[in-house]
Amino acid sequence: RASTGALPPGRTVDELVRLAHERYAGVDDGAVADYIPVLAEADPRRFGLAVVGVDGERHEAGDTDVAFSIQSISKAFVLALVCEELGHRAVRERVGVNNTGLPFNSVIALELNAGSPSNPMVNAGAIATTALLPAASAEERWERVRDGLSRFAGRDLELDETVYVSEAETNQRNRAIAKLLQSYDRLDVDPLETVDVYTRQCALAVTAHDLAVMGATLADGGTNPVTGEQVVSAEVCRDTLAVLASCGLYERSGDWLFEIGLPAKSGVSGGIVAVAPGKGALGAYSPRLDAAGNSVRGQRACAYLSRALGLNLFASS
Ligand code: GLN
Repeated sequence: RASTGALPPGRTVDELVRLAHERYAGVDDGAVADYIPVLAEADPRRFGLAVVGVDGERHEAGDTDVAFSIQSISKAFVLALVCEELGHRAVRERVGVNNTGLPFNSVIALELNAGSPSNPMVNAGAIATTALLPAASAEERWERVRDGLSRFAGRDLELDETVYVSEAETNQRNRAIAKLLQSYDRLDVDPLETVDVYTRQCALAVTAHDLAVMGATLADGGTNPVTGEQVVSAEVCRDTLAVLASCGLYERSGDWLFEIGLPAKSGVSGGIVAVAPGKGALGAYSPRLDAAGNSVRGQRACAYLSRALGLNLFASS
């Protein structure tokens, strides 16, 4: 199906989401992330699929109310908040919008690009983006992130303290990346305080349903279709989605766009949000990941639903 008009009728979407869940629930490929110790304890059987339309209607199957840490998916929404504050040009000049072709926590990518973080979806670029959010202190920066992401979700998001502590104890690599950014004059604020805010933002607890609402806000020109609040502008949604298309699934972003044809963002706890501009968004949760850190079942289910719901942006028939 071509990507024209709105989502199919509600009952059709309900049925297709249920079918996608049934179809991929048995896939056991991939492995749960363990470089953040507490993530290794995730239940690999969990699988939730949620679609929210720009009309605010929800369609879901499986574990859509199970909470998990948002991890890298936070990067997409912090980028939107920073775009809203500083504009299109600042993000392009200070962070960049090109894929590194390398893993999300690569140090070499920074070195190869003369200290440029390349894009806001890898750790270096996300730390640089969080640092750009105007705030007088790290505490205020964290509150702005939490409040901003909560407005995308349409409810107060809470920190998962266990995930935060587990990652804060083991994030030497992100601290090194932040120090390296500082050495290249790429950070105007304290590097370790910024990594701490970034680590908290990654530990915000969300559900697959929350991801679908957050994505639907980007699909709806920045208006949360559930609360009606204008969270960011339509221009900011456009810019954010362009970055997600090129960089949202790390070095597999090309594969993803080729198969699914939608801007999206994944995270190492097993979440994926995929956005169909003007239509709605899909939130998926399943903790087993491929080698790049993307949920295996989440990718399969998104591919199925993109085809069945006619969401691929590049399809004309
Ligand atoms: N908090 C994680 C990290 O910085 C996020 C990574 C991810 O989801 N890919 O390593």
